[in-house]
Amino acid sequence: MELWYTEEWTKNVRFSTKIKNHLYSKKSSFQQIDIFESYEFGRFLTLDGLMMVNEKDEFIYHDMIVHPAMCVNPYIKKVLVIGAGDGGTVRELVRYNGIEHIDMVEIDKEVTNACIKFLPLTSSSLKNNRVKLYFEDGLVFVKNINDNYYDLIIVDSTDPIGPGEGLFTKDFYIDCHRILNENGILINQHESPYFESFSKEMKRAHNKISNIFKFANIYQAHIPTYPSGHWLFGFASKNLNPLNIKKDIWDSFGIKTKYYNIDLHNGAFALPTYVKEMLYE
Ligand code: SAM
Repeated sequence: MELWYTEEWTKNVRFSTKIKNHLYSKKSSFQQIDIFESYEFGRFLTLDGLMMVNEKDEFIYHDMIVHPAMCVNPYIKKVLVIGAGDGGTVRELVRYNGIEHIDMVEIDKEVTNACIKFLPLTSSSLKNNRVKLYFEDGLVFVKNINDNYYDLIIVDSTDPIGPGEGLFTKDFYIDCHRILNENGILINQHESPYFESFSKEMKRAHNKISNIFKFANIYQAHIPTYPSGHWLFGFASKNLNPLNIKKDIWDSFGIKTKYYNIDLHNGAFALPTYVKEMLYE
């Protein structure tokens, strides 16, 4: 008997993939956590029935949530990662020897435990000695941080429903602005322009961020297993233009990437007209 995993992208659109096994299932105090083994995407994690990360295309998301900021400011030392329970974002960050410390704040310890057990591909660096894990709400964590503390904040959250909702609020963005230093950069998972329910959240988040940060740009990547495949990231900063990249310094790190590259960097910020009209008109 064929087994299929299916999730709703909208009320009228579903995404399905054939699975070999349902490896893990647990209801934590925050969400339903499941891990499956599939034919096409390898193992994948879902939270409340939505695809979060899979072995086949996670490299795209984790390249694009980390490397653009590092190419704009290769001198980043202190990083805050919020969410990111699967560990893929931290795995990419620890490849930079100049990064001295990473605070990772994941609200649900059960997510990280499951990924350590079943997704070693993404969770491999969570025990790195530069990483400090906190299992608490990122919204509360940022309130207790001193001004001008971090060089980079990466918000690798779920969608703005459930525990992730607070990470799309004005108060949260104001706190991020306060705890970033003058060359600080905020990168966030910024939803998608294609389906109306996602584009609504994208516009709301962009409106809030652009009223707080001097630079509030959007860039894109093609992530096949996220709704529509057209996925966006936010790049916000007090003083750094995301198109001013330190190419030679970044190249000197010799970091091999599978999706991100210097040519793609500026291209990712070149948005389709319909998306620009949603955001800037
Ligand atoms: N890459 C995936 C994506 O873009 O959809 C998400 C990565 S990770 C699985 C998202 C994590 O955000 C989840 O583990 C979830 O528990 C965590 N999260 C949601 N709300 C949070 C909050 N308020 N504070 C900290 N972590 C939160």
